[in-house]
Amino acid sequence: RAKAMRGETACYFEPGMDEIARKRRELAHDLRHALDRGEMHLLYQPQRSLHSGDLSGYEALLRWRHPRRGLVSPDEFIPVAEESGAIFAIGEWVLREACREACRWSAPLKVAVNLSAVQFLQADLVDVIHKALVETGLAADRLELEITETAIIADKLRALHCLRQIKAMGVNVAIDDFGTGYSSLDTLHSFPFDKIKIDKSFLIKSENSPEARAIIRAVLALGKSLNIPVLAEGVETEAHLIVLLAEGCDEAQGYFFGRPAQPPSQETMQAVNS
Ligand code: C2E
Ligand code: MG
Ligand code: MG
Ligand code: MG
Repeated sequence: RAKAMRGETACYFEPGMDEIARKRRELAHDLRHALDRGEMHLLYQPQRSLHSGDLSGYEALLRWRHPRRGLVSPDEFIPVAEESGAIFAIGEWVLREACREACRWSAPLKVAVNLSAVQFLQADLVDVIHKALVETGLAADRLELEITETAIIADKLRALHCLRQIKAMGVNVAIDDFGTGYSSLDTLHSFPFDKIKIDKSFLIKSENSPEARAIIRAVLALGKSLNIPVLAEGVETEAHLIVLLAEGCDEAQGYFFGRPAQPPSQETMQAVNS
């Protein structure tokens, strides 16, 4: 193994590693021009309150239409953008674009924006967020930033300081993919989160796995005792929704309510909320 690490032999690498590395290099190269060339756009997925049934907001999800490869998934290109540094320009664009879009909506719903771990540790993040709000005129309390446990554990003190500044602006912060990372319960308690998003894997497994359902129940109990609302991701079927209603979940998001789609029209917003 050590030999392979020193690059003397490649025999320990999985077949296809070269191919993967080559693709990553190509994506990193192409990412540098993706914004300028208008290859990026945002889709919006509805989030619903399970108490009132109303729409509560939309999560902005980034899409990259690569000129030759077609649509590339953010799970694939975000890590590349983090490594190359392109994430800063992309992240700033996403923030501004999502805030601008939310300003057009007829109802004052929240817009949720994902922040990558690298972006979260960026020194001028607070300025970038402030600028997006000022330039677009979006009220701070309509913006919700989604961060993962990974973003926090890298540097807890710094993360706490940063979160406090973001909160001081009036912006909401949600912890995303909860249950899949490495944060302790203590993190949840000492960080000022406005929402816990249970990772979609638990709900998707819940039908066949009593353990997955037990985890959902535990996260909901945790949210209740810390007084933090819980949103479940990955609601694909009515059966999933029934589980969530039975367990007393606060909000939900998933294909059952709507796939990520073009910016919502005035009509959808009125129809869905009436
Ligand atoms: P995420 O923030 O956890 O977003 C939820 C993902 O689950 C999205 O995948 C969404 O399309 C998908 N999803 C929604 N409902 C369902 C469902 O009912 N079933 C299933 N199986 N999946 C569902 P997507 O859009 O491919 O994004 C993947 C990840 O990429 C996101 O996970 C987020 O971590 C990252 N990402 C997306 N947009 C951005 C962005 O603007 N900036 C950053 N830094 N990361 C982003
Ligand atoms: Mg998210
Ligand atoms: Mg998630
Ligand atoms: Mg995710």
